[in-house]
Amino acid sequence: MEIISLKPFHTFCVDDLFFVIRTRTLFYDILDEGDYIWLKEREGVFQTEIAPDEKERLIRLRLIASPSDPTDSSGYLEIDKKAWNTARPYLLQLKALELMVTQECNMACIYCYGKEGRYDKGGYMISDTARKAVDWYLSQNPDTEEISIGFFGGEPLLNFPLIQEVVSYVKEKAPGKKLLFGVTTNATLLNDEIIDFLRNEGITPLISFDGTPEYQRHNRILKNGRDSHDIVIQNVRRLMKKIPQLPACATLWGDADEELVLQTLKDYGFTNFWTNRARPSLLDLQEPSLGHETLIPENDTDPAQCSPEEETMQRQTFISLKDKVKKTLEAMKARDTATLRELVRPRDISRMLSGWQTHLKYQYCGVGRSMLTVAVDGKIYPCHCFIGLEKFCLGSINTPGPVPRKFFETHQIVENKKCQHCFARFACGGSCAYENYGVNGDIYHPTPEYCAKKKAWIEFAIYLDSQMNKEDRKYLLENGFVRKELNIFDLL
Ligand code: SF4
Ligand code: SF4
Repeated sequence: MEIISLKPFHTFCVDDLFFVIRTRTLFYDILDEGDYIWLKEREGVFQTEIAPDEKERLIRLRLIASPSDPTDSSGYLEIDKKAWNTARPYLLQLKALELMVTQECNMACIYCYGKEGRYDKGGYMISDTARKAVDWYLSQNPDTEEISIGFFGGEPLLNFPLIQEVVSYVKEKAPGKKLLFGVTTNATLLNDEIIDFLRNEGITPLISFDGTPEYQRHNRILKNGRDSHDIVIQNVRRLMKKIPQLPACATLWGDADEELVLQTLKDYGFTNFWTNRARPSLLDLQEPSLGHETLIPENDTDPAQCSPEEETMQRQTFISLKDKVKKTLEAMKARDTATLRELVRPRDISRMLSGWQTHLKYQYCGVGRSMLTVAVDGKIYPCHCFIGLEKFCLGSINTPGPVPRKFFETHQIVENKKCQHCFARFACGGSCAYENYGVNGDIYHPTPEYCAKKKAWIEFAIYLDSQMNKEDRKYLLENGFVRKELNIFDLL
């Protein structure tokens, strides 16, 4: 018998196909059932005593750690931390800016984390602040080829003149650069002038809309008492004539039926749409714990293990997606482009289809690192959700030089115990810092719902990838189902 160190890995199956994925490289193999059962018993083990024939098996499966590899998870954690530190300068380059052109809204949505879009203070951004914000942004990463600015609120179209001014100011200040503008809007204020401006300037609108008349009327209430559903639908139809590829995001509140919402968005003609669960407003919270301290007590259950609750959720997610994944595969193989377009409209399926790629992912989104938000008063926050939470304020556009990233200098997959042990960590990159903070009081502590969903997505992405050949990938690329440059789980 010999003591052998194993590389970290994860095994799973989809019907009668058995897989192993190597955690730190994201490479996977299809196994026979015997190897799968044998490996499953060893999952999560770093050192094991084995007979010579078993060693042969591990060599064949490429799971024996090299002599320089650590023999336990804490050693791999040190390696992961070093990798994060190497990636950090790149991840901290400011690539995108969110501008809160207003912290006022004409709606009073029942779940608004910004409390009627005011984020405590309310107000409109003035021209001087917007220009300074642009100057500050351009000074942060002067060599970048791409400028990305998102207009946010409240309802940003309440300050449409400022949006127009910023667009022309950026064009003047950043000649020759690729300009990307976006606006997140409730679509109630769209008129011909605004629609033409958005189209002519290539500004991507993202429509916040809850889908069914019942949900929209209940959740997204216009302050003037009018019916927001009918206004939005009318405006969206006008906008779609000029910008047919219109994305929409619906917020799920309470026990909203996600399938119904997705189906309704599809029926209204949106081409790219998804749902988010409503996030709690943190503006009223007293003093939840902050930042780096993990809430998993030192002697809690093994952090590598899922809670039974999470396992059940993962199984349920898996079951609910399996049928769609299989239909997607069938449509792709049959080159049934129309059916495939229908199937991939929800973002989870389209991401899975994008093909398994093997570059490691260190973050869920650019929050506090490659993306920052400037509030109406010129203060800088990690993202729009954190506005009004003063302990998260990173600085001001009036202070020259780089902004300190404070809690965002490091990251979830190396800070949170559960992520440190998770097979999905380099495909997942972590979860929404604001949601984590809201639910667990810790920006690095993910929710079981999120992890269950993400792990199921990752397993299906591998399954789909294993079923594709070169021609399939070419077809997906040529028909715009996947984008070449993206990691499948990149969000922002
Ligand atoms: S957030 Fe991602 S990496 Fe962390 S435990 Fe959940 S699935 Fe794993
Ligand atoms: S995903 Fe979460 S942390 Fe990232 S930008 Fe959105 S709200 Fe902020």
